[in-house]
Amino acid sequence: MHELAIVEALIEQVGTELDRAEQKGAVKRLEIAVGRLSGVHCDSLRFAFNLLSPGTIAEGAELSIREPSAISRCRQCGTSTEITEMVIDCPLCGSPEIAIEKGRELLLESIDIED
Ligand SMILES: [Zn+2]
Repeated sequence: MHELAIVEALIEQVGTELDRAEQKGAVKRLEIAVGRLSGVHCDSLRFAFNLLSPGTIAEGAELSIREPSAISRCRQCGTSTEITEMVIDCPLCGSPEIAIEKGRELLLESIDIED
């Protein structure tokens, strides 16, 4: 389950961000964006978070996961399409020349700290 490694990196990133901002408060809420095509399962992510966060800076924080849609863009006709799963050709013209523009990202979007 590579979600464990992802959550480990995430918690480390939270620590780095807090150090940089010189924040010492407890983390109340973390918001992350997980692209639909990132291959990451949100349930596994939550499971990994519950497993790994105790004893870390993120202990007790609420994990909020956003799942932005993926976008494919056709190099042939230029159409951008919102997709929920991997596509291999353009839904409009059928060209296989498509690029996935969004949907693979996994980002830490915000950290809420207790006052
Ligand atoms: Zn097309």
